[in-house]
Order: sequence, then C-alpha cells, then structure tokens
Amino acid sequence: MGRHTGPVCRLCRREGMKLFLKGARCHSAKCAVERRDGVPGMHQFRRGKASEYAVRLREKQKVKRYYGIFERQFRKYFAEATRKTGNTGDLLMSILERRLDNVVARLQFAASRPQARQFIRHGHVTVNGRKVDIPSFLVKPGDQIALKDRDRSKNLALENAQAGFLSPVPDWLDRISADPPEGRVSRLPTVEDVTLQVAPQLIVELLSR
Ligand code: SF4
Repeated sequence: MGRHTGPVCRLCRREGMKLFLKGARCHSAKCAVERRDGVPGMHQFRRGKASEYAVRLREKQKVKRYYGIFERQFRKYFAEATRKTGNTGDLLMSILERRLDNVVARLQFAASRPQARQFIRHGHVTVNGRKVDIPSFLVKPGDQIALKDRDRSKNLALENAQAGFLSPVPDWLDRISADPPEGRVSRLPTVEDVTLQVAPQLIVELLSR
C-alpha cells in the first residue's frame, strides 16, 4: 500500500516528534513518526547546527502546531501572558492549555485536538449548560464541560473515552462521567500539566527581541 499520511503528519515529521493530530492513527504502527519513512523534512532540519534563532523559532512552531493555532492568535496569547504577573513562558502555556478544544481532547472526549475543534464548531459542546462553539474559548476553574445530548457526538465521545487515545486525564480536570460525557475544571493548569515537550522560555526570548 502507499505511504499516504496526510498533511498533518507532515507537521509531526517536520518537528521530529509526535503531535497527536490524527487520533487513533497516532497510536498505531501507521504513525509516520514511528515509521520514519520518507522524511525529507526531518533530515533537512537536522543537517548542521541550527542557529539560536532557528531553535527558538522551532519551539514556537511546535506549540502552534500542537494546539492548532495561527500566528496572530499566538501573539495575542503571548501579549496576554506578558500582561500577567509571573513567568511569561509558563503563563503562556497555561493559557493555551485552557483552550476549550484542548480541554475536550484532554478529557478524552475527542481523539485529537482537530476532532475536538470539529465537535465544538458543530455546536456539540456546552460549558455550564450553554453551547459554546468557539474552540479558543478559555475555561476557568469550576466550569462544567459536556457534550450535547446528540447520539452521534455522544457515541463518538464515549468511544474515544474508552479508547483513551490521548494521555491520561490531567488532574486539573475532573472527568465526571464518560456517558454522558461530562467534565469539570478543578483548577488552573500549570506548565507542569502540559504534556508537550517544550521550552517556553525560548519562545519568550524569541518574541521579546
Ligand atoms: Fe500523524 Fe499522529 Fe503520527 Fe503525528 S502522531 S505523524 S499526526 S499519526
């Protein structure tokens, strides 16, 4: 069979690490990073010593791809993090982690962040009983997240929760039940709750120049 892996896999191959953008496929032998086949990007980036700028840029790109956000929005998050008191890099990661699409994925109701975004955009997700169709919505402690009582989304969420595709539910979130899919935000996430291997300080250095 061919080696078709789709455009999102190319992002992982370019970063040389798994970004878990394709749900079940990411956990199978079909994962392009596991196979390391046809990976011109990875070799290309590994040739020679990367400049300091390139290393910092790579960290930023990795975070943007992992959370599925564009540059403009990323800059907004960074600006918000700089306005707060504390370590800017850590605050940036905490803000990103609070995105509703990430929360739906980390509660394991979606097999990937792109799938979580689809659930949200199609109006299947509620926060405190009200429909929220904006994937970038930032949750706060006490928020109740649920999937609407529609068979298709509920069944898919239940299957995802049972398969547990993504990493275990972090302890800043509380999965109340898988059927019906319901969870709660128990506290604000910290940088330690982020599963992506990243050095946020390098991003701060890049954007503060
Ligand atoms: Fe593709 Fe998922 Fe593997 Fe990334 S982790 S290469 S998205 S299958």
